[in-house]
Amino acid sequence: MTLTAVPRYDRTRITSRDGTAVVVGASVAGLTAARVLANWFDTVIVTDRDRLPDGAVARRGVPQARAPHVLWEAGRATLEDLFPGYTEEIIASGGLMIDSLRDMNVFSEWNFVAPGPTRQPMVCASRPLFEQVIRRRVLGDAGIDVRERTHVTDYLYEADAVTGVSVRPADGRTGEEIDAELVIDATGRTSRTPAWLERNGYRTPSTDEVLIDVAYSVVVIDRPTDDRRAYVRLPEQPLGRGCFVFPIEGNRWIVALAGVHGGHPPTNPGELIEFAGSLPFSETRRLLEDNSWVSEDVYHYPFPSNRRNRYEDLDRFPDGLVVVGDAIASFNPVYGQGMSVAALQALVLHHTLASEEREGIADRFFERATDVVDPAWMLAVGADFQFAETVGPKPRGTDLVNL
Ligand SMILES: Cc1cc2nc3c(=O)[nH]c(=O)nc-3n(C[C@H](O)[C@H](O)[C@H](O)COP(=O)(O)OP(=O)(O)OC[C@H]3O[C@@H](n4cnc5c(N)ncnc54)[C@H](O)[C@@H]3O)c2cc1C
Repeated sequence: MTLTAVPRYDRTRITSRDGTAVVVGASVAGLTAARVLANWFDTVIVTDRDRLPDGAVARRGVPQARAPHVLWEAGRATLEDLFPGYTEEIIASGGLMIDSLRDMNVFSEWNFVAPGPTRQPMVCASRPLFEQVIRRRVLGDAGIDVRERTHVTDYLYEADAVTGVSVRPADGRTGEEIDAELVIDATGRTSRTPAWLERNGYRTPSTDEVLIDVAYSVVVIDRPTDDRRAYVRLPEQPLGRGCFVFPIEGNRWIVALAGVHGGHPPTNPGELIEFAGSLPFSETRRLLEDNSWVSEDVYHYPFPSNRRNRYEDLDRFPDGLVVVGDAIASFNPVYGQGMSVAALQALVLHHTLASEEREGIADRFFERATDVVDPAWMLAVGADFQFAETVGPKPRGTDLVNL
């Protein structure tokens, strides 16, 4: 995924500001969208059903936050444009800048890939820290009102347009309605927008689903301060097992073992070490054996399928509603693309708002967002079809790559 898919963020394109926008979901997609919307709307309200923590800790609404997360350069550069100083803030909070061509040892087929001749910086941190630094910046923006523990239960609807949301605060206060010129659905993979469309007489988007049945087992272990090593092995034929080891804040490594198509990693510590020993290199097993475990338990996360809602193909969609992030497409996580795709979609939203009237924004956004989603989808499902067990719509040309 590269930044060539979308022009960079350009503040000089901001021409006017009025009205209210509501963003449902205060994770990476929702927060980055809110940052962009604050240039175009007087008021931006972000709601999340979770209590949003002060610190960099995983929360209930984003269970995958306990798994390792990679931020690709296209995502980092976009977050840096939207929140100047983002990278420095991550590092100041304990994250690390590593050279992905030297510090990151990528094992493919039967050997480590040779280190590259140039440098390629990469930020390493936990997923909660990546989100916390974005959240801190959004909370500090006077134009954005973040409402935690506020569950959106429905969209308000009038004459072929979404005109706001109904919310139910968790603290027992009675529900309320919030009027808005634009509503953004950033509620992730379990988005209710397709069900809402059906209930209100619209066609639902067709959904591409490519089954990969991957699971992670994750632990956090101690790391000597000056040890910046990272290890990556993507699940490959014939073993279908992989691992991700990244240095993160707090002098720790986050270690995930992964397996596809039912070859899932165990949750028992001893068996997990054995699973690591079955990889074609011994470093991950040794790290698990030689360093103290911070985690009290092994965190297990199953992920059944790549899933993509084809909103761009709908010929009728309510005005005033846009869907972003995992709610459009969620990818096999081993390729580490979701946060970067979400950040790039915020850029797409910025350019869509900059170049045209607000009316009909959804159609234009969905059309342009394909420039970001298509390459990420092709990469993920294209690679997943190396496994004979992978089932689903196969993009044209995939078999040529997986010879
Ligand atoms: C195991 C795993 C590993 C991953 N690894 C990587 C990686 O290495 N790199 C990477 O870039 N991406 C990775 N991803 C993907 C990444 O986590 C997501 O793409 C990213 O979090 C952006 O998602 P999102 O903001 O669209 O949705 P989510 O992160 O799922 O957030 C949805 C938000 O909506 C809120 N919400 C839901 N319903 C409501 C409602 N009705 N009212 C109010 N609030 C609501 C939730 O509380 C939550 O805050 C991984 C995913 C998984 C599953």
